[in-house]
Amino acid sequence: MGVTDTTMDKLVSLSKRRGFVFPSSEIYGGINACWDYGPLGVKLKNKIKRFWWHAMTQLRDDVEGLDAAILMHPRVWEASGHVAAFSDPLVDCKKCKQRHRADEIEGPRCPNCGGELTDPRQFNLMFKTFMGPVEDEASVIYLRPETAQGIYVNFDNVRQSSRQKVPFGIAQIGKAFRNEITPGNFIFRTLEFEQMEMQFFVRPGTDETWFEYWREQRMQWYGQLGLKPERLRFHPHGQDELAHYAKAAFDIQYEFPFGWKELEGIHNRTNFDLTRHQEFSAKKLEYFDEETKERYLPYIIETSAGCDRTLLTCLVDGYDEETIEGETRFVMRLSPKIAPVTAGIFPLVKRDGMPETAHGIVDMLRKRFDVFYDESGAIGRRYRRQDEAGTPFCLTVDSQTREDETVTVRERDPMTQTRVKIADLTRLLEEATAF
Ligand code: ATP
Repeated sequence: MGVTDTTMDKLVSLSKRRGFVFPSSEIYGGINACWDYGPLGVKLKNKIKRFWWHAMTQLRDDVEGLDAAILMHPRVWEASGHVAAFSDPLVDCKKCKQRHRADEIEGPRCPNCGGELTDPRQFNLMFKTFMGPVEDEASVIYLRPETAQGIYVNFDNVRQSSRQKVPFGIAQIGKAFRNEITPGNFIFRTLEFEQMEMQFFVRPGTDETWFEYWREQRMQWYGQLGLKPERLRFHPHGQDELAHYAKAAFDIQYEFPFGWKELEGIHNRTNFDLTRHQEFSAKKLEYFDEETKERYLPYIIETSAGCDRTLLTCLVDGYDEETIEGETRFVMRLSPKIAPVTAGIFPLVKRDGMPETAHGIVDMLRKRFDVFYDESGAIGRRYRRQDEAGTPFCLTVDSQTREDETVTVRERDPMTQTRVKIADLTRLLEEATAF
């Protein structure tokens, strides 16, 4: 079995062919760095979100959920520092017109053509739009560039309504928008993306312990997602990399075909956010600790992951090619917990009552699992199609089924075939997909 060269080109083409990810507005020629999730992609994305939500909220007593609006009061972005500081210095090449982030190039000339560059200009990454029909400065609002601020401004609402005491966290999954200057690498960096963020509010002085705790928790989560541990690592931020609000930060990085890149950021944001919102909103956000009789602004430990980036990572990590009896097999080794389709269900042939029995199994399993019925083509071809889609199990009804109420269960990775009672299928899939 040989792991192969996982090039992004192959992945982009497989994603389109199989319906994971399509270029957005493709019939119009597409739009830069915008992508749509197809039938398999949306299932995979929903399962990744569910897996995150389950780990971050359902399994815990100390994290509550939230779903805040994308549009927020414009003052939020002044308080957060985004209006003043959320910008990348940009340079344009005077010759080939290519645009670069000033902090990403070395030397004074264009890395593309060697041409002369303009002086750096500041470029704000927030998408601006207008609220109401009048397009004046007074009605300017922004599409949120991160979900975190929706959590900070709801700190008191969530705390009071859920009767949580510090330390506790608030988790949220939602869209964010950034007018990225250098988007690319497929869905790695896009203009519109989904974040899975959790902000954990703690007593000052306990922040370093909680920071360590969450760093470990989040790394474990990627392991549970099935990613190869040798392709994951921590990257601590040096003093020069730290954001203005952060006391400490670690990225969880993955080794993509284009290098080690950030998957998630874990930040000790101190009491910067609540201090600023208290100041800008003139509302008291201090927390009164009943036990110690102290009053303070909680520190925040943030875990900020990208859903699209996690999905890309699962595709990159799972993609494999192997040669079997002279033929290349493309296989997407996704964990059964998140595979878009859990089982393909096939009648060996289209007669002798096999399709009817197979449909019966589909009806039994579809209430709990994503299953897919396929009766067309040779059985080997049907297996291959499911391999590419990442389906961990294929269940085939054959002539023996009528005799002993069993089907052939073929597993994607070892390609083993075993006979399993129809009555035991639910339990088999339940065990494989449980989290
Ligand atoms: P970068 O330096 O790569 O632009 P960042 O440090 O600005 O990223 P954060 O603000 O920490 O990123 O965002 C948290 C997470 O949100 C990232 O780890 C990533 O998974 C996701 N994310 C951020 N920007 C994008 C984007 N443009 N496209 C897709 N996902 C993104």
